[in-house]
Amino acid sequence: MSAKQGAPHSTIKLAPRDTIGILGGGQLARMLALAAASYGLKTHIYAPEEDSPAFEVSSTFTCAAYEDELALERFAKSVDVITYEFENVPLATASSVSRFAPLLPEAQALAVTQDRLFEKTRLQDLGLPVAPFLAVETPEQLEQALQTLKMPCILKTRRMGYDGKGQVRVSSREDLQAALNLLAHAPAILEGFIAFNREISVIGARSQEGEFVAYDVCENIHTHHILAQTTVPAQLLETTRQKAIDMAQSIAHSLNYVGILAVEMFVVRTPTGETLIINEMAPRVHNSGHWTLEGAQTSQFEQHIRAICGWPLGSPHLLGDVRMRNLVGDEAKTWESCLSDPYASLHLYGKADIREGRKMGHITWVMPPKSSSKPV
Ligand code: AMP
Repeated sequence: MSAKQGAPHSTIKLAPRDTIGILGGGQLARMLALAAASYGLKTHIYAPEEDSPAFEVSSTFTCAAYEDELALERFAKSVDVITYEFENVPLATASSVSRFAPLLPEAQALAVTQDRLFEKTRLQDLGLPVAPFLAVETPEQLEQALQTLKMPCILKTRRMGYDGKGQVRVSSREDLQAALNLLAHAPAILEGFIAFNREISVIGARSQEGEFVAYDVCENIHTHHILAQTTVPAQLLETTRQKAIDMAQSIAHSLNYVGILAVEMFVVRTPTGETLIINEMAPRVHNSGHWTLEGAQTSQFEQHIRAICGWPLGSPHLLGDVRMRNLVGDEAKTWESCLSDPYASLHLYGKADIREGRKMGHITWVMPPKSSSKPV
């Protein structure tokens, strides 16, 4: 599915041998760097962590703080376009580097997505469905918000929350102390609890010309708030599927977005069908899109590179029924048995330390389409 709409971006056009700068050095940057290399492009990774998984697969890297103005300037002057692998890049860093090289997606995508209050408000302003929410900063405001939204609710810090970090579920008065402890550290939003039937995500890409394409909708299962498994296509009514893609597209157009955008949603069954509620969005390649490496004509990593380079988008065509399973923490130790399944595609991120809850790798299976007897 493809549609052109919204303002085109001023065109930035790279050629093979040019260099892409990436802020952040985790597994997403690593897979972006590998995709860039497959197009003959070079990458320069900028990250503060010495053991960044992306350093070992990039042409160049800078290991420095996001506040190191001199290092940022040197980095930005050495590349042709800059992108990022996570939404918590400080806005000051984004603004520093964009004085020397174009930043895509633009910094406004960061400003909106790194604060849950701004993000929810923006979605609401676009007329898109979100869980009922209220901003809370003080114990009195929390009490008031609980009266309004009614338990169960979820208290989430406005900033720096991911994989369930910075969240407390408030189901009864007994959970109040944990919520107050969270609030003592950071401003938050209180969100009504959604009794969803499924969690899905839409991974879409928008080009500099305003063309939007989306992959088949992904169905996600989280364990302890961390993505455990993605299957594609999601089990949805056709109307729900189209609505989910339309919503992601309208977000991308409204942000004059360039690159891969991920939008996570809840599906709630109703007596007459299904409704959608947007949970959150990510201005970057996304874990629920890792299956596209083997399961789609163009991977999300290639697609992002194409978009920021000013190249035509590739086909998001689905190549079979797909299952992707994350290897989290100790699960990475099963790598050898994964290899003994000839149809499992194993990806390990090269992280030395196995820690609980740490994403170490993933496995993808692409099952043959019903008409074929062989894996694709
Ligand atoms: P988040 O960090 O906002 O993506 O939340 C992590 C996970 O918590 C989601 O994938 C859901 O499984 C769950 N969750 C978050 N917000 C809600 C909500 N308002 N109602 C029910 N479950 C939620």
